[in-house]
Amino acid sequence: MTDDEYTMGEFFRDVREERRKRRERLGVDCPGCPKVQPKRIPTVLLPQQRCKVCGYRDPRARDDRAALHPRGGLVDGAAGDAGAVA
Ligand SMILES: [Zn+2]
Repeated sequence: MTDDEYTMGEFFRDVREERRKRRERLGVDCPGCPKVQPKRIPTVLLPQQRCKVCGYRDPRARDDRAALHPRGGLVDGAAGDAGAVA
C-alpha cells in the first residue's frame, strides 16, 4: 500500500467511477424526451440538470452535491478585533 503513488491516471479513474455511481444512483430517464423524440433513448438527468434535447429540467433538489461540499466552516471577520480580551 503506497498512498504516495496516487497517480493522475488513478485520480481521473476515481472521478469517472464516482460520476458513474452518482449517475446510477440519481440518474433518471428524462420524461420530456419521449414527447419530442419518441425513438430516441431519453437523456439521463441528474438533479437540477437540464435536458439539452427537450429542455426539461429535473426538479429535484441538489442535496447530493451539497453533501459532498458541506458549508459552514468559514466565519469572516470574527477574528479581527479580539485584542481586548482581559
Ligand atoms: Zn429530455
